[in-house]
Amino acid sequence: MGLNVKAKLVIKEQLKPDIFKFGISAKEIANIAKPGQFLEIRVTDNIVPFLRRPISIYNVDKQNGIVEFIFQVKGNGTKILSSKNIGDEIDIVGPLGNGTFNIYENKKIAILGGGIGVFPLHELAKNLKDKSEVNVYLGFKNKDAVVLEDEFKKVSDKFVITTDDGSYGIKGFAINELEKDIEEKKIEYIYACGPLPMLKAIRNLSIEKNIPCQISLEEKMACGLGVCLGCAVKKANTENDKTEYTYVCRNGPVFNAKSVEI
Ligand SMILES: Cc1cc2nc3c(=O)[nH]c(=O)nc-3n(C[C@H](O)[C@H](O)[C@H](O)COP(=O)(O)OP(=O)(O)OC[C@H]3O[C@@H](n4cnc5c(N)ncnc54)[C@H](O)[C@@H]3O)c2cc1C
Repeated sequence: MGLNVKAKLVIKEQLKPDIFKFGISAKEIANIAKPGQFLEIRVTDNIVPFLRRPISIYNVDKQNGIVEFIFQVKGNGTKILSSKNIGDEIDIVGPLGNGTFNIYENKKIAILGGGIGVFPLHELAKNLKDKSEVNVYLGFKNKDAVVLEDEFKKVSDKFVITTDDGSYGIKGFAINELEKDIEEKKIEYIYACGPLPMLKAIRNLSIEKNIPCQISLEEKMACGLGVCLGCAVKKANTENDKTEYTYVCRNGPVFNAKSVEI
């Protein structure tokens, strides 16, 4: 269900004109958070916007009880959130998400991220590092969109950046660089979060190569508690091809790629 806390904002960094990193003091959440989980954030005490906004956990500092998240300003909710200042209290429910990233030991891992989908992958890579071989492939639109390069380098054994236009790193899509390494590095497990076309492509590739894969679906979500059913995703391979749904907030946001139709 997640805990409801009023957490003090202790870190605020503007990473890009429209991207902010926040750290909140929330020991209770830090103690139990798992990679892939998210927070539901109430951005204002006013009626509008009424619904909490879901944002993934980017980093957990258990020692200091700090939970960090990174968000892009998209609309009114994230705009209001970005105006919070150090010392402000933020009403947060978390950690949420029943489907979380599996942490394996002694595996050759590939982590694929795209755009603002890279944020939840940091806590994942951090938890895998020193347990498994962590190969990270991040794709961005262009140089201006590249974020967290140094942070990801610290938690990976191999790290690759691609940009669609070649203005930074390797020109092309990150999935193509990952694909090149599959045989050579004998990749045994894949994780991904990013735009839907990237997730579709990695789902297909993982099925074709018979490599287990978990994807995080950051589909639009309203209540975040499994009540409104606004975040339905079709289940794959159901009996008699019956149409069945699963829900990002209740069952995800992380799913086995094979288990959902996207
Ligand atoms: C499980 C989960 C985890 C997420 N984690 C992050 C994160 O770590 N960092 C981050 O920046 N964002 C994340 N998002 C997306 C984030 O929740 C939305 O961008 C935010 O709720 C938008 O709120 P708003 O009021 O600013 O915009 P709104 O006014 O609600 O929407 C403005 C526009 O933003 C777009 N939008 C809204 N929600 C989404 C969405 N879920 N996916 C794509 N586009 C959307 C739509 O095009 C919409 O027109 C996550 C979403 C989910 C479901």
